[in-house]
Amino acid sequence: MCHDLHSDPVFYHALFDLDQEISDLTQSQGCIFCGETLHVSNYERRPRGAFVNLSEPQLKHKYSFRFSFCCSQDGCRRRVTPPTVRFLGRKVYLGFIIVLVCALKHGLTPRRALLLCGEFNIPRQTITRWRRFWCHQLTQMPFWKKAQGTHAVAIQKEELPGELLGRFTGGLSERLQQLLKNISPVTCTQQRHFLDLNLHH
Ligand SMILES: [Zn+2]
Repeated sequence: MCHDLHSDPVFYHALFDLDQEISDLTQSQGCIFCGETLHVSNYERRPRGAFVNLSEPQLKHKYSFRFSFCCSQDGCRRRVTPPTVRFLGRKVYLGFIIVLVCALKHGLTPRRALLLCGEFNIPRQTITRWRRFWCHQLTQMPFWKKAQGTHAVAIQKEELPGELLGRFTGGLSERLQQLLKNISPVTCTQQRHFLDLNLHH
């Protein structure tokens, strides 16, 4: 597995491209409440756990906001925020960092866990909270129920997200992208609207 995924610009660009695709698709479908045109109204984000070795301005820009829209229709004007693979909802750390740190027990080595936590200055309590997130929130998602139905061997929720990461194919980068894409509806409160996003990856 790639040790330096978190400092590999290609990986960061790939995650952004996925979000761009999800965002374009969301905008093309119009307001989920009234069907009218959506105008761009992105959220500013200041994620932690990124850019440790990155100084590329283009990437800094790509991780400084989350895609979001506002309905153009008077009387509606509601906000529509598509799922994202870069961020895990409102959590300040990037989604893939949270996956990696929590999956270490099953996917990578404990030494690597310590290194990552140290590198990103992640407190132990935060990791405990993240573990609860995997166990409780993720297992409520339709995606999870579907995944449980497709695999011959059931995934133990105590072993999330490492077990899930192990079920996808490809290198660590591909596995992470697939996992983040699959769980992305959990990143928005309007998740029931986004279950059918048909992505090309
Ligand atoms: Zn609307």
